[in-house]
Amino acid sequence: MTAPLFAPIAGVAFERFRSALDRLGNAPPQVLLLEGGREEDRLSMTGYWAARCNCGNLRENAAPCLSCSVCLRIAAGEHSDVLVYDGRISNKEDEENPGVVRALTVDHARDLKRRLGEAPNGDGRRVVALMGIKQSRTDAATALLKVLEEPTPNTVFVLLAPQREQLLPTLVSRSFCLTLPFPDECVSDEESTEWEAGLAGFLRDGRDFFERVSAKNAITADMAARLLLACQKACGVLLAKDGKHAERPLVAALESFSARDLAVCCRWFAEAQEALNSSVTPVRVLQALAARMYVLRADSRAAGMARREETVF
Ligand SMILES: [Zn+2]
Repeated sequence: MTAPLFAPIAGVAFERFRSALDRLGNAPPQVLLLEGGREEDRLSMTGYWAARCNCGNLRENAAPCLSCSVCLRIAAGEHSDVLVYDGRISNKEDEENPGVVRALTVDHARDLKRRLGEAPNGDGRRVVALMGIKQSRTDAATALLKVLEEPTPNTVFVLLAPQREQLLPTLVSRSFCLTLPFPDECVSDEESTEWEAGLAGFLRDGRDFFERVSAKNAITADMAARLLLACQKACGVLLAKDGKHAERPLVAALESFSARDLAVCCRWFAEAQEALNSSVTPVRVLQALAARMYVLRADSRAAGMARREETVF
């Protein structure tokens, strides 16, 4: 059997997201924001959305057929009305090895602007996807983002980001946001797990983390963002009382937190992400966050202790 089109999101876990897009397709939002999941999930979902916006052979439930030539060309990255730009690709890489996903260069931005003035090649809508935007605060990125502000008939945009906090709030506010499910299995690589364990250890005993973070070039902004994401996930697990991930070091370390504490932490994570976005060094961001969480944890444990004593006496 051949793999289904858009295989990463073909399973049951993504069913409600696919049907959300099926319904949205009747009146597509100008900007769709896909966050959460893995990068391949977000990309596949973008492909599915493009198929929904262009398939001329929709099923009864408004889902794309995934078997016509339009759907197949989109899945193969060969449809001329589906354009994907990635701010993380350097101009040089793009020149040497131009792929389906293009760099955000000034030339490409200019070219896109021109194309937006013309009708799409096919009968459906043009789909313009932008990813890796946070890393590319270039003139080209700014120019492309400006395009999003103007009404462009027959064109829809998709923003792809691990978390919406990585995008400018003005962009998020004019987007229709879908949060894809985080993969159940622990996809975090060894390095990320090490940082998680390091932070969890610090929350317990107040040791080592500051030194580790401040070692020269120890942690990148990207890694810090992933650690923040892991923190958010741990809070989500605890808030949902989801026993499945109880063995994760951060989940165990935050166990004594009340729902209110967890909500406070989630606000701190968002603030920390904003600080990273505005180029505060990851060392400072993580040290400040870890110190706040350490104090909160000590307080929450003391409060828990006091509650237990009350019930004893
Ligand atoms: Zn089709």
